[in-house]
Amino acid sequence: MPDAVIAGAGIAGLTAALALAQRGWTVRIRERAARLEAVGAGIQLSPNALDVLHRLGVAVDTVGVAADSVVLRDGPTGRRIATVPVSSTDGRGYRVLHRADLQRVLLVAVHRVPQIELHLGQPLVALDATAPGIQAEFGGPSGDLRDEADLLVAADGVRSDAARLLGFPSPQPSGATALRFAATAAPTDQPAAAIEAWLGARRHAVRYRIDAAGAENLVVIVPAGEPTLGAVSRWDARLAGSLAQARPLGAWPLLTVMPRWRAEGPAPIAFVGDAAHAMLPYAAQGAAMAIEDAFVLSACLDDAADRGSALRRYEALRAPRVGKVLARVAFHRRVYHLPRPLSLARDLALALRSPASLRRDLAWLYDWRADEALAISGN
Ligand SMILES: Cc1cc2nc3c(=O)[nH]c(=O)nc-3n(C[C@H](O)[C@H](O)[C@H](O)COP(=O)(O)OP(=O)(O)OC[C@H]3O[C@@H](n4cnc5c(N)ncnc54)[C@H](O)[C@@H]3O)c2cc1C
Repeated sequence: MPDAVIAGAGIAGLTAALALAQRGWTVRIRERAARLEAVGAGIQLSPNALDVLHRLGVAVDTVGVAADSVVLRDGPTGRRIATVPVSSTDGRGYRVLHRADLQRVLLVAVHRVPQIELHLGQPLVALDATAPGIQAEFGGPSGDLRDEADLLVAADGVRSDAARLLGFPSPQPSGATALRFAATAAPTDQPAAAIEAWLGARRHAVRYRIDAAGAENLVVIVPAGEPTLGAVSRWDARLAGSLAQARPLGAWPLLTVMPRWRAEGPAPIAFVGDAAHAMLPYAAQGAAMAIEDAFVLSACLDDAADRGSALRRYEALRAPRVGKVLARVAFHRRVYHLPRPLSLARDLALALRSPASLRRDLAWLYDWRADEALAISGN
């Protein structure tokens, strides 16, 4: 049975462990943190990510709430600009939830699989890509621990130590900061939540419900040099009211990295999730791409006779798709943050589009299914 060591027990690492174990690998996850805390805030999971989680038996439908659309509003006035449906073309749903709830259902699934071990308090501290096997060292309470395996999966986030140890460039500031808040909404009997986004010059805010009891996630993206709400606190009264009673969760400087998929040396080392391609949250796809990566990597390795070509195939499958998502993220960043009068032209153009035609713009993203993506490219 081939064995893999995974650095990092975030969304990417836990999903990669499940995907590899489903294909017969034994897996050791080594996580730097001594305890898995409820970090993060809300997260949106589109149908492409849910498809993978369902295939892996993760009970994601038991947490969070369904969402049916993103309502785009003018920030200052709150005027509705457009409604963008978020289900796939064939009606598969979209969920909004707390990241900690996603991590919890992933952990439940991981603990059910005997061939996955999870070790906490073990940071990756040394890595060598020049030998054909994996030679990695992890720190621990009783000193460094040397691990050998058939594969190392670097799932250690945007500030990836694996990438640093292999000489990849450091993450770069994006020029934007996310201010995150926890809020509470009035009770509702609506079966599906609407995600609301308020757009304005160089800033935007997003709010959505993350559980049935009415907990809400609120995030405001602001320029990194001015990390305060500024004018946003005087925008649309519905948003301003939420912000006034919300609990601040802190400021997240948003970083980017040049995508990297595998080590350049002979060692079978693959990058997944933010370690591979941290992306800005303008299209809510960072975790979704981590989840897709994990599944595609495991499928490519299924024919494990030649891991080098499996990893090249992984890169060939993932690089174009993630590149297209990154382009969409950059497009949203430009369009969401237009100043007046350019924003008025944007609003007019969007108002002329039907929800169905706006949905078609994102069909390539949300309609993705793991089996079809692999079949189309001949796996
Ligand atoms: C404001 C904001 C909103 C977002 N909204 C969405 C959204 O709506 N939808 C969406 O899909 N995505 C969203 N994202 C992105 C998403 O949160 C990330 O892409 C995703 O959580 C990345 O998961 P990961 O497992 O790759 O990395 P992480 O969650 O960072 O996990 C990395 C893990 O590796 C561990 N680690 C680090 N160094 C080491 C080491 N040396 N050795 C061992 N372990 C190590 C860390 O402790 C951590 O547990 C958002 C991000 C932000 C900032």
